[in-house]
Amino acid sequence: MVTREANGTSPVRQQVRTYQVRTYGCQMNVHDSERLAGLLEAAGYRKAAEGSDADVVVFNTCAVRENADNRLYGNLGHLRPTKNAHPGMQIAVGGCLAQKDRGEIVRRAPWVDVVFGTHNLGSLPVLLDRARHNRRAEVEILESLEVFPSTLPARRDSAHSGWVSISVGCNNTCTFCIVPSLRGKEKDRRPGEILAEVSALVAEGVLEVTLLGQNVNSYGVEFGDRFAFGKLLRACGELDGLERVRFTSPHPRDFTDDVIAAMAETPNVCHQLHMPLQSGSDRVLAAMRRSYRSQRYLGILEKVRAAMPDAAITTDIIVGFPGETEEDFAATLEVVRAARFAGAFTFQYSKRPGTPAASLDGQVPKEIVQERFDRLVALQDELAWEQNRALVGRTVEVLVSTGEGRKDADTHRMSGRARDGRLVHFTPTGAVRPGDVVHAKITYGAPHHLVADGPLIAHRRTLAGDHFEAGIRPKTPGVALGMPTMGAPR
Ligand code: SF4
Repeated sequence: MVTREANGTSPVRQQVRTYQVRTYGCQMNVHDSERLAGLLEAAGYRKAAEGSDADVVVFNTCAVRENADNRLYGNLGHLRPTKNAHPGMQIAVGGCLAQKDRGEIVRRAPWVDVVFGTHNLGSLPVLLDRARHNRRAEVEILESLEVFPSTLPARRDSAHSGWVSISVGCNNTCTFCIVPSLRGKEKDRRPGEILAEVSALVAEGVLEVTLLGQNVNSYGVEFGDRFAFGKLLRACGELDGLERVRFTSPHPRDFTDDVIAAMAETPNVCHQLHMPLQSGSDRVLAAMRRSYRSQRYLGILEKVRAAMPDAAITTDIIVGFPGETEEDFAATLEVVRAARFAGAFTFQYSKRPGTPAASLDGQVPKEIVQERFDRLVALQDELAWEQNRALVGRTVEVLVSTGEGRKDADTHRMSGRARDGRLVHFTPTGAVRPGDVVHAKITYGAPHHLVADGPLIAHRRTLAGDHFEAGIRPKTPGVALGMPTMGAPR
């Protein structure tokens, strides 16, 4: 970049500073990182080329995983020699772990320049400037949300799929979860703003959106409409060009029948549901402070399948929660059998500092947790495999993915997601690009994916595919600050 000196005479060459964002944790963090990238680009930074050292490295951290802090300090330690060899380089740490550890981060890693929390993503460029100017670390953590993150600019990673936040924070108090203390109470975004963001993405070629919230079923609680989520799904159905709508995560406590009707009656809403079970034992659910019981959970699945027999249902399960007995675990296996999940993210319970469950009596020994975990995974794999084998011979529509869409060097297959969220590896015929849509016949069902090896039945070239090829990604400019961004529906 070339600018003029104050007297307007000699031009001065100013180098554009480059950045890299390293993301840990959930989809919420992945999307926050798109916002961080958008903010830095709006402030004049450019994404560092693959393999090159960036002038600014941002860690977007997660406090949920076991040993998250050890991993962060290890990574910061690795970066220290690079920083010493690269004058002017800055390191910033944000996200949940930053919100939790605050000033502790610069005490343990004094070469860190900026620490920012979950409520003030938007301050990152200013904090970097201030740290450079003052030559000292800037730590800024807010206790509540400054502006809704979706009002900030974003640099999207995918040309065909977009995350869209509908709420942040959570009003529940699950005893294993650190989210409420780090992300605060639920804040709902207005439906009009959400739909405007979705429309803007569709105009840029995006075919699929995933609506994001810690508990999408309580969406509307802040503005007094308990049916707001179902209405939002139906409103997404009105948007021309939007082919697939997904959402994560629903909560069995707040799941209402109108949402099932909206899913079944809105053609672009995918028949896919990822609904965390966590445990099949009512005693453990009570200890987790999950305010539904296994029968309620299974009752929701029954209604979903009655309305959408082809729905693929996936879940999260924690094994070895404090106090879990063999009988409790058997109840989980029973619910898993009855639920016929298409897939499950299974976790071994481990203490998370700062959560109520960390101080509960009855922590289950590691080897017992491991043994139960192995049994659960074996059962779930068997059930998923059976369902996937039953799909052989069916034709599925696949949206070719960016990350998964690269051609495999050995098999020459590409990959993408079916409408129900299943991963499909297919043999491309012709020039198929990530972002295109193909129809393929399933030839093999594995426990975790489907294979379609015959010739493609159809291939539709899309604007998203053109954009992928041209390296164009949707950019959300952000809305003018000062606009009301939360509260009553519009
Ligand atoms: S619903 Fe429970 S697990 Fe999910 S974010 Fe809220 S407190 Fe955490």
